[in-house]
Amino acid sequence: MKLWNHYHTPTSVYDAIDLLTRYAGQARIIAGGTDLLVDMRADGHAPQEALIDITRIAEMGQITREGDTITIGAGVTHTQIVKNPLLVNAATCLIESCGVIGGPQVRNVATIGGNVAHALPAGDGTTSLVALDAQAEIYKDGMRQWLPIRDLFRGAGQSFLDSTRDLLIRFRFTAAAAGQATAFARIMRPQGVALPVLGCAVWVSIADGQFADARVCIAPAAPTPSRAEAVEAALIGKPAVSETVDTAIKTAQESLHLRTSKYRATADYRYEMVAVLLRKTLSKAVERARSGSAVPEGVG
Ligand SMILES: Cc1cc2nc3c(=O)[nH]c(=O)nc-3n(C[C@H](O)[C@H](O)[C@H](O)COP(=O)(O)OP(=O)(O)OC[C@H]3O[C@@H](n4cnc5c(N)ncnc54)[C@H](O)[C@@H]3O)c2cc1C
Repeated sequence: MKLWNHYHTPTSVYDAIDLLTRYAGQARIIAGGTDLLVDMRADGHAPQEALIDITRIAEMGQITREGDTITIGAGVTHTQIVKNPLLVNAATCLIESCGVIGGPQVRNVATIGGNVAHALPAGDGTTSLVALDAQAEIYKDGMRQWLPIRDLFRGAGQSFLDSTRDLLIRFRFTAAAAGQATAFARIMRPQGVALPVLGCAVWVSIADGQFADARVCIAPAAPTPSRAEAVEAALIGKPAVSETVDTAIKTAQESLHLRTSKYRATADYRYEMVAVLLRKTLSKAVERARSGSAVPEGVG
């Protein structure tokens, strides 16, 4: 079964954009192909005129830190993220989420950009990038621009990016500083290979024994990956103790719209699991913020 007519491997962002422009909507970006090739095989349409493989673009395959800003190329694989020492304390949740995606074969080729561009409501890497308040640099409508990550999603599986014309180039976010830390955990069906029953990423800033600030992403809890703002409000300015976490859990259970999904879980089960995940991630993040060091957990 022929899936494409032409396959290009540009080595610069400029060349990738040039190809997208020349094909005028007849080409599609491919990274690890772990989502795209499955979809292309399933849909049985005519072959794609061209695929533009971004995995040889050096600028999109790097993880760097300048000052307190971490930048991660969209072509960086989950394995690269898991192994990068720059992220251990600065973005522990990202290691913990990318470290449980698929199995080693998937993580070795699948990219963080592909996870975000696919726009599923519960992509694991995406959940952590939302809690990290990441920004994304994209090429769209003739210009490179930075956008908050939340602006990349239009609906379940619907991206702001048109991957036949636009390019997701890289992400940036602020590294966790002293008194700040992150954590991610998820519930997965034992036989599950793709998306979780529920995932949760948190970022906390602890000062004088209180949650000075907090960011929480629980997914899937909406058509697009988004912050649980009511839960954040229940934490901010309150003592970093278990009673506050209890209140945050109650707030999450009252405010989130958890759905029954045919292949994963009932809404009732997700309702119970919100409590498990929030307690685990918030406790872990507070402990890390207080100790000033993190050891990523659950990485496969
Ligand atoms: C067996 C298996 C297990 C999986 N397990 C998990 C899991 O546990 N958790 C999870 O979150 N996901 C899981 N996935 C889904 C998938 O592996 C991830 O979403 C992965 O990060 C996708 O990245 P990719 O590089 O393979 O994307 P691709 O398949 O190459 O691309 C996905 C989509 O994004 C577009 N795209 C990719 N990169 C760019 C870019 N730079 N700019 C613009 N558009 C772009 C493509 O055109 C395509 O539409 C699993 C998949 C498989 C096959």
